Amino acid sequence: MPAVMDDRIVILGAGQAGARLAEALRDGGHTGPVTLVGAEAHPPYERPQLSKEMLLDPGASLTPIKPVAGWGMAGIRLLTGMAATGVDAASRSVTLADGQVLRWDRLVFATGTRPRRLPLLEAGPVPVLYLRTVEDALDLRRRLRPGLRLAVLGGGVIGLEVAAAAMKQGCSVDLVEAAPRLLSRAVPPLVAGRLSARHALAGVGLHVGRQAVGMADGGVILDDGRVLPADLVLIGIGVEPCIDLALPLGIADADGIRVDAQGRTAQPGIFAIGDVASQWSRWHGRWSRVETWANAQNQALATAASLLGRDQPHADAPWFWSDQYDLTLQACGDATTGEMVVRGDPQGAFATIHLVDGHINGATSINAPGDMAALRRLVTARAAIAADQLADPGFHLRRAVAALPKS
Ligand SMILES: Cc1cc2nc3c(=O)[nH]c(=O)nc-3n(C[C@H](O)[C@H](O)[C@H](O)COP(=O)(O)OP(=O)(O)OC[C@H]3O[C@@H](n4cnc5c(N)ncnc54)[C@H](O)[C@@H]3O)c2cc1C
Repeated sequence: MPAVMDDRIVILGAGQAGARLAEALRDGGHTGPVTLVGAEAHPPYERPQLSKEMLLDPGASLTPIKPVAGWGMAGIRLLTGMAATGVDAASRSVTLADGQVLRWDRLVFATGTRPRRLPLLEAGPVPVLYLRTVEDALDLRRRLRPGLRLAVLGGGVIGLEVAAAAMKQGCSVDLVEAAPRLLSRAVPPLVAGRLSARHALAGVGLHVGRQAVGMADGGVILDDGRVLPADLVLIGIGVEPCIDLALPLGIADADGIRVDAQGRTAQPGIFAIGDVASQWSRWHGRWSRVETWANAQNQALATAASLLGRDQPHADAPWFWSDQYDLTLQACGDATTGEMVVRGDPQGAFATIHLVDGHINGATSINAPGDMAALRRLVTARAAIAADQLADPGFHLRRAVAALPKS
């Protein structure tokens, strides 16, 4: 379907990806109506602040991507507090919660994800929270106070950042992770070990290889029968894609909405971006959703280009960062497989680089932003560099980047 600059474009989901796409369409010269439909009451905002600034600083307020008025000034119609309730591909229309019907020439799903829940625990006597929205962050922040006993279920990025923030607020924290180590899907054991040691040093009680199976009066019951005393439970065990409206269109399965590198689904005129989109990963060799800030940003830009009739495929390796105490973790590509090379001091600043068939297929770093800036480029290019060179601190990664063939 050729791009037409005055097409009506409707974007479902006014989170980071939807917002960046709307902006990029206008920046790229799209002249037709652009409507951004968001279920949340707020103008679009980025979520990393929810588990960082907003929890660490009791006075921090939400920073939106731009104020409400800015959207109108950019020529983007923003509907907040308005869920879309139905999509009809035949008549090219979307129905909203208030009964309005919007017509579109091209439709973009940017509906994100919602936390995976544990209803069994929600029914118990201890309050249970999740962390996805600004309301969740404010609720959690209000409750974090010195002496509060917090049980965090899930040793992923969100659970770990909440644990670090709660320690800073003087809480006592226990963290339960079902896998044998923290962040097992994203980082190698060396990096997980460094993070575990830092949390233990801060005083977090770590319970890996354990699951919460129920709630008792005053605590969480673990699968070994122990009860962890808790006044509050924060569950961060992953997310599921918001695909309710996409499923009847035949473009989604339980893993998300499948798209190509231009954000196109199997239905002409319908696109998907951000956390809800499932993409082929050259680094993992499988379809996967990429639940990161950078993906929301860059896939939105690539899809805007595609909507504007330009060819700019989304080709960046998946990358995220996380701040915990004095540590900044970054991970890129697939850092859980292949031959691992360590660069730097594993007790200080360092990176791990993961080679598959001699090509750089993944990397992590702790407090080594310069190395990671270069490694992101080398992972994206799947550059072939010898392990002994990569391990040598005298070997300049930036020079290796400069030597990459120009795309
Ligand atoms: C607490 C937290 C901390 C994070 N920290 C980091 C980090 O440090 N680094 C990193 O790389 N990534 C981080 N992330 C991940 C990153 O924020 C997400 O990958 C990013 O927000 C994805 O953007 P999105 O637009 O796809 O989804 P979202 O930002 O979730 O936006 C989707 C929007 O769609 C709306 N919606 C859903 N269904 C409908 C409907 N039917 N009608 C209308 N609207 C609908 C939702 O209400 C939501 O507002 C963090 C995420 C969270 C929750």
